[in-house]
Amino acid sequence: MSSHPAKVSSRAARKVAAPAQSKALSTTKQKLEKLGLRSAQDLILHLPLRYEDETEIMPIAVLRPGRSAQIQGVVIRSEASYQPRRQLTAVLQDESGVIGLRWLTFYPNQQQQMQVGRRWRVRGEVRGGLHGYEIIHPKVTVADSPLPAALTPVYPTTDGLSQPSLRKAILQALASAELNDTLEADSVNKLGLQTFSLAIRTLHGPTPDMDAQALIEHTHPSWLRIKFDELLAQQLSLAAARDARRSLRARKLTLNSKPESLCARLLQALPFSLTSAQARVVGEISVDLQREFPMYRLLQGDVGSGKTVVAALAALQAIDAGVQVALMAPTEILAEQHYQKLKIWCEPLGVEVCWLTGSITPKARKLANEAISGGRARLVVGTQALIQDTVEFFDLGLVIVDEQHRFGVAQRLSLSRKGQDAQTGAALSASDDFVPHQLTMSATPIPRTLAMTFYADLEVSSIDTLPPGRTPVLTKLISSVRREEVVAHVAQACTTGQQVYWVCPLVQESETLDLQTAVDTHLALTQALPKCRVGLVHGQLHQTEKAQVMKAFREAKIDVLVATTVIEVGVDVPNASLMVIEHAERFGLAQLHQLRGRVGRGVAKSVCVLLYQTPLSLLARQRLRAMYETQDGFEIAQRDLDLRGPGELLGSRQSGVTLLRFADLATDSALVVAAREVATDLRKNAPHIVERHLARWMRGREDFLRS
Ligand code: ADP
Ligand code: MG
Repeated sequence: MSSHPAKVSSRAARKVAAPAQSKALSTTKQKLEKLGLRSAQDLILHLPLRYEDETEIMPIAVLRPGRSAQIQGVVIRSEASYQPRRQLTAVLQDESGVIGLRWLTFYPNQQQQMQVGRRWRVRGEVRGGLHGYEIIHPKVTVADSPLPAALTPVYPTTDGLSQPSLRKAILQALASAELNDTLEADSVNKLGLQTFSLAIRTLHGPTPDMDAQALIEHTHPSWLRIKFDELLAQQLSLAAARDARRSLRARKLTLNSKPESLCARLLQALPFSLTSAQARVVGEISVDLQREFPMYRLLQGDVGSGKTVVAALAALQAIDAGVQVALMAPTEILAEQHYQKLKIWCEPLGVEVCWLTGSITPKARKLANEAISGGRARLVVGTQALIQDTVEFFDLGLVIVDEQHRFGVAQRLSLSRKGQDAQTGAALSASDDFVPHQLTMSATPIPRTLAMTFYADLEVSSIDTLPPGRTPVLTKLISSVRREEVVAHVAQACTTGQQVYWVCPLVQESETLDLQTAVDTHLALTQALPKCRVGLVHGQLHQTEKAQVMKAFREAKIDVLVATTVIEVGVDVPNASLMVIEHAERFGLAQLHQLRGRVGRGVAKSVCVLLYQTPLSLLARQRLRAMYETQDGFEIAQRDLDLRGPGELLGSRQSGVTLLRFADLATDSALVVAAREVATDLRKNAPHIVERHLARWMRGREDFLRS
């Protein structure tokens, strides 16, 4: 099974959400435990978030807003006021000038501290205030005490655990903990890395001669060593998870290669032949399905590359071998579309396809459940409702998850466990606990380094060419002041039989407001385009209504389809050749790419108009430029990664990125590659080092290792 990032992060979330009412008595030890710090080893790997430079006192006259400062001076004015709001203000003076200090909440003893004439050392961030510079909520300490010789580390902490007590605990741990290298000295040298002990000691207590900037920006050689170790641990544990899966048992789904096999008959019936890329991935999947341990394969292919037929062939191989197959999609529109297509492909072959979503009537649902648990339904297509507890499969052998990036890892796992439960449950003889094979499909190409970590526990197949006959989509960037012209162009296009998507943006995090925009746009376009049939589809429509609209569009009974992003993934209407995206500046890059992928699927020359509203933020400008400059999904994904970082690209909760505390996949790709090579070598040649390294890095994270 895959790693468990979702589990880890929900755990972390709980930790944060835990009420701070834990007894006032709670000792430092308990507070440390709250941070997951139990042993000396835990403490030494609790590394600073940042550093503060407290090695110098600055003259007040040189301070600039936005910078942190440490100054020393005498209080020359002090006032507690209660109108218009409660606050404490003071003015501190040194030989060079004065600066304001301000507290928005304060205790009586702070007011006493700030009595005129007293001398303090003060630290904080300088801001430009109404009456000159000021520091809000400064840290106040005794003046004229000796200055530290090194940068002061600032650690991640929790309520009620002060930096000084945390620092003390860590210093103690450093004195007692074992800091030996997990790697051989030789390979540390060869990799050009620092030793572990030097790196750890440096990061906890850098001396003033060290490059402060590099320490703060995590580019210092000491950070590189730690990040390398962390990435190595990740690679090793993902590889272990992969191995563990091989000890699970799955049905061996032998390929029927007779001419009357289901696969052969589908290939015969298709109006096209597979591209060589499709044929290759079909082969890869087919080999996996014939193994006795479960397949966990990711099928990557840009929008329109033809993943569905590959999924169908995998399903038919499995069905021919005698098991049930489930295909799950993230939205009803998409599930419905798969259902329609698979029905057309499979039913003539005598394969019963069953439709199951959250919104079917109780009666239809009961019938579906019976067909599924009785084993009559061989291919079950639907949405997440599939994974609800009420569904019992008779003999689920393969699970296909489409547009997998929409699902959390937890959901992925839940569905694959479904197979286990169905097997061990009442349905079959209790002795055979097989795990279903799993194929996940994604149209979001993942840059190589991300794939190496996020998907390191999966096999990956890529469809790297599009079916023949596609013409590239012409992308136009048009300012919204020219919206009228675009509407006129749409009117023109309709008269020549073209079909058009008009995409409305998400306005807010509010479904009602988004809906309102779509409804308004629909009304406006209906009026502006009297000769066109304008339809509307959005997320709030009942699923049957949605399906009706999509059907009408597919059958060319609608010319212009006003839509929200419900059409973002997977929707396939080859005759649609013009797409207008309003407020394109509000969409993410991956989303724009997915949307644009809805056109350019047929032979007609397709155009995608990105209507934008000025002024554009820098980020929006970069995104639109990327859309204009390239159509290559991998290129787009790489630019997206550069613009946003991996957390957002994959959705940090499901990315597995949250497991990395120090390394950053966007900037540390060279380290990822190195760690991967070393991991492979160690697993082959030095299992004792693997064990040692994981023991250091995976302590307390057993749930990550377990599979
Ligand atoms: P996606 O990978 O985005 O899910 P689809 O599976 O929806 O792509 O395929 C996009 C379109 O291309 C569909 O209309 C499909 O029937 C068609 N298609 C798939 N494979 C081929 C092929 N080898 N030759 C021609 N058309 C194909
Ligand atoms: Mg698809």
